[in-house]
Formats: sequence, structure tokens, C-alpha cells
Amino acid sequence: MQHIHYCNGPDLPDFPDDVQPKDVNIWLHDSGMVATHDYACPVCRSESAVLSLHNGLFQPCWECQDKGYRLIKKDQRKWWQKLL
Ligand SMILES: [Zn+2]
Repeated sequence: MQHIHYCNGPDLPDFPDDVQPKDVNIWLHDSGMVATHDYACPVCRSESAVLSLHNGLFQPCWECQDKGYRLIKKDQRKWWQKLL
């Protein structure tokens, strides 16, 4: 879930300049094979994100992944570096 706070209009509060990222809670089973968490899908924000235990990264929920959404690491090499 997300909350939108309207700011800087008539009778509205000032835009904040000290907002900190929220902590995410992960409960990891002692085996390291199972975990649960309270991080929402960054796409739909209504389902739980999917935690990849092998790298610790969160992916969108399964439904959003079925629609093509993914967290990817971009190949930052120059085009000519990819040829070598
Ligand atoms: Zn989703």
C-alpha cells in the first residue's frame, strides 16, 4: 500500500526534505531455504514482492512478473566492449 501526501498547495503542509527510506523486515528460516517479509510489490503495491534468496533482491510479485515486470541489472559496457 502507498500513501500519497499532497504538499505545498493552499492549506497543505510543506514538502518534506528529510524523508528516510523505510526498513524492510525479513524473517529467514534457520535453514536459509524459506523466508517471509513485509515488502510490497513495487509495481502493483497490493501484493507481496518476491524475495530471491540467492542474491537478496526483491522482484515484483508473481502476477506482475507474468506481465513482464522484472528488476534487471543493465549491461553498462559500451557497444564496442560487447563485441570483444
Ligand atoms: Zn505486483
